Amino acid sequence: MMDYRQLIRDVPDWPEPGVTFKDITPLLASPQGLAWAVDQLYEPFVGKGIDQVIGIESRGFIFAVGVARALGAGFVPVRKPGKLPRMTIRREYQLEYGTDAVEMHADAVTEGHRVLVIDDVLATGGTMAATCELLAETGAEVIGAAVLIELGFLEGATRVEVPLHSVLVY
Ligand code: AMP
Repeated sequence: MMDYRQLIRDVPDWPEPGVTFKDITPLLASPQGLAWAVDQLYEPFVGKGIDQVIGIESRGFIFAVGVARALGAGFVPVRKPGKLPRMTIRREYQLEYGTDAVEMHADAVTEGHRVLVIDDVLATGGTMAATCELLAETGAEVIGAAVLIELGFLEGATRVEVPLHSVLVY
């Protein structure tokens, strides 16, 4: 089997000094790499009755649509503030300096829906934790979260209170 880690490139000091960015674009550009990544993300959730797959802006969108198609589910975007045109619900979360927020259309997910949350990278876990909290507010059942890459040394998984599936842990 191909070592797909070779298709994920470390970019030091980007977008700011001290951060090593995980560039997944070579993996996405590879037909085998893209198929492998989507397969790894959806397979644990087959037969779990997922109604909707929630993608976190922006690289979460890339995988969430493929996962939703594979599971026969719908796709719902969770976006940065001010991007969605209709009534939204929002959850703020702490960054190292200041706060950020995630938003979702208020009527996108309703009570009783079984949802799966997808993102490319779990770093501090703030974005994923806020997204899961936002979904819990709607009364939906968050069956799990899946990420392609978990930066294990940042211990973000400790902030995620739903079953987390990480394809690659660094
Ligand atoms: P966090 O809230 O700290 O877990 O950050 C997660 C979000 O930031 C994800 O949507 C990622 O796309 C992005 N992100 C954080 N750190 C990195 C990194 N080192 N490489 C690529 N993306 C990252």
